[in-house]
Amino acid sequence: MNIFKGALSQLNTASKYLNLKDDILEKLKSPDRTIEITVPYKKDGKLMTVRGYRVQFNNILGPYKGGLRYHQEVDMDEVKALAFWMMIKNAIVGVPFGGSKGGIEIDPRDLSEEELEELSRNFAKMLAPNIGPYMDVPAPDVNTNSKIMDWIEDEYSKVTGKRQKAVVTGKSLTNGGSEGRKEATGLGGFFVLEQLIKKLGLKKPLTVAVQGFGNVGSNIAKILFKYGYNVVALSDAKGAIYDSSGKGFNIELVKKCREEKGYLAGCYCIGSVCDIARKYDGVIPKDELLELPVDILIPAALENVITAKNAGAIKAKIVFEMANGPTTPDADKILNKRGILVVPDVLCNSGGVTVSYFEWYQNMKHEKWSLEKVNEKLKEKMVKAFEEVWEIHKEKKVDLRTAAYILALKRLAEKMRL
Ligand code: NAD
Repeated sequence: MNIFKGALSQLNTASKYLNLKDDILEKLKSPDRTIEITVPYKKDGKLMTVRGYRVQFNNILGPYKGGLRYHQEVDMDEVKALAFWMMIKNAIVGVPFGGSKGGIEIDPRDLSEEELEELSRNFAKMLAPNIGPYMDVPAPDVNTNSKIMDWIEDEYSKVTGKRQKAVVTGKSLTNGGSEGRKEATGLGGFFVLEQLIKKLGLKKPLTVAVQGFGNVGSNIAKILFKYGYNVVALSDAKGAIYDSSGKGFNIELVKKCREEKGYLAGCYCIGSVCDIARKYDGVIPKDELLELPVDILIPAALENVITAKNAGAIKAKIVFEMANGPTTPDADKILNKRGILVVPDVLCNSGGVTVSYFEWYQNMKHEKWSLEKVNEKLKEKMVKAFEEVWEIHKEKKVDLRTAAYILALKRLAEKMRL
């Protein structure tokens, strides 16, 4: 099943619990607008082109909102699925935004900083008629960051002749970015996880494996380490490390080491118990991380990593989805049948867009909030969203993903009926 069809199947499952008219459901299954552009850039002085995408799924709840991904495997189906999930996520967490997503089919590691800047500015110039603070607001995602958002904001302002900081979120702090945005996705996930373990009566320390050590993975690992979880396994695109003693890594030290070495597999002794981890030599094939005997598995890299092929081998009691779409619908069924609790992406990782909303709001109102205020408001939103999803999960006796979709569908349908 392709990724977009898989995403729609989650909507179909939830819609059975609501008395929705067919026309409402149909409207929620197709994007309002898909944009595909050819973006020019220079590589080693030679003129090149690459495909760029933006999908505006719908703006029922507010301006379209969603990240920009730079990755060699980006395509229209993936961007459509990601835009659809943004629509669902924003409805769950209760921010006044619709759903969108974009991307460029490129591996940014192949480009110099100047080449990357030119590509990003050209993309912004071509997207300018279709984005804006009240129209569509991009943000960072895989392989994009505050520097890229700053270039896009600057180019958009040049093209339109107006300084409009709120055209993108996830900007640098000196360029209208919000305190707390960089850590927001990880911190938001942490607030949800803390509520969940309270509900389940679980006691710390709990062992955790985190797949992906980028913005989301490294931040949630750092926060979990700080608050008494034992993060025993970590991976990035190049490899994985595992501390089989169960004590876990000092994530601050691992982060520093990774920054120095550029990859995780060289950091297995850092802040860990090397002698015990030696059994595995501390370094394991990266996909084995998914099948380790841990309490909580956190996929925080890319989609479709838990599939029908490996779902039977997952040993974690909880799969906590920080990446978008890490579990295929087939795998989801297998995990549910095996009694593994899957906490869905559209709830777990909605902290990022929540603080993006705070950034947009601050820009629009010319305000500057403190980190304490941002984090307090983030906690409020995440705890509320979790409690609402949990209530539906209990009341309707459905899995957490279906419960989250029921909540989103209700909110979208109510607005569509107005
Ligand atoms: P990122 O580019 O900062 O990091 C991605 C990480 O995944 C990198 O460490 C990379 O090495 C690793 N990776 C790639 N392939 C891997 C593999 N096969 N095995 C193990 N690791 C692998 O991206 P990010 O912003 O952290 O996003 C990660 C996920 O979280 C994505 O699904 C994204 O859509 C989602 N997400 C991000 C945000 C955000 O605010 N950045 C918000 C919500 C959801």
